[in-house]
Amino acid sequence: MANDMGRVAGKVALVSGAASGLGKATAERLAQEGAAVVIADIRAEPAQAVADGIRRAGGRAAACKLDVTQDEDWQAAVADAERAFGKLDIVVNNAGIADGGWIHKISLEDWRRVMAVNLDGVFLGVKHGAEAMKRCGGGSIVNISSVAGLVGIAEGSSAYCASKGGVTLLTRAAALELALLKTNIRVNSVHPGFMQTPMLEGIIGLSRDPDAARAAMVKGEPIGRLGEARDIANAVLYLASDEAAFVTGTQLVVDGGFYAK
Ligand code: NAD
Repeated sequence: MANDMGRVAGKVALVSGAASGLGKATAERLAQEGAAVVIADIRAEPAQAVADGIRRAGGRAAACKLDVTQDEDWQAAVADAERAFGKLDIVVNNAGIADGGWIHKISLEDWRRVMAVNLDGVFLGVKHGAEAMKRCGGGSIVNISSVAGLVGIAEGSSAYCASKGGVTLLTRAAALELALLKTNIRVNSVHPGFMQTPMLEGIIGLSRDPDAARAAMVKGEPIGRLGEARDIANAVLYLASDEAAFVTGTQLVVDGGFYAK
């Protein structure tokens, strides 16, 4: 897998929530294209397994336990990345949870948990990522929002939509600030539609009729299928790479046409 000529060769990336789903696929894709990757996740063992897999395939990777809601965890994770690989050029703020409940029933505690992981976690990743990137002359931050950060989605998604909408505008404001400060740091968001991952399987599994729920999701995607994790990995790869050198503050929607309707 080692790729000195790859699209992100020589760069160092940290991907949060990289033990599973979109984060795992993204970390593996960045490694394929030559980046050294820190697999950061609240679940240490599966994170280590992803890092081991990348190394077995000839790539460069390390694992680190990170709870994205914790300021001190972020400080330690960034320090680990710099110690292991010398710098930090790319941060992918991917960790997220899809918990929630209908707006008239969700508890304040559950609301705050969604906000803590999905929005505080991204804020801390942008903040500490940007500090590290300033030390190495610039970089690229990619925040994983959702189509639910662009439009409202019903059926218990209010907290999730609010958190992902927050990620959309946090991204735009941070991109402007870091551009004004001449940091050479770009910040963009990616907005997945319905992607086949453990998170989506969990949501489908909660419904009374999982087959009908899956069919409704497929029907919601004009392209006629659910997204694959590699669809997001390829979008993140572009934004992380120097191919996107003039792209900051944008929303890259990768959703099979869901948002176009
Ligand atoms: P997933 O559940 O498969 O993976 C999420 C990962 O985040 C897990 O490995 C989990 O351990 C980790 N994580 C959870 N809380 C954490 C915390 N506090 N600190 C660090 N790591 C933590 O989910 P996925 O489908 O791969 O989702 C990845 C991102 O994409 C999420 O932000 C999600 O909201 C977003 N997204 C997913 C879809 C979809 O259809 N799957 C659609 C739109 C957006």
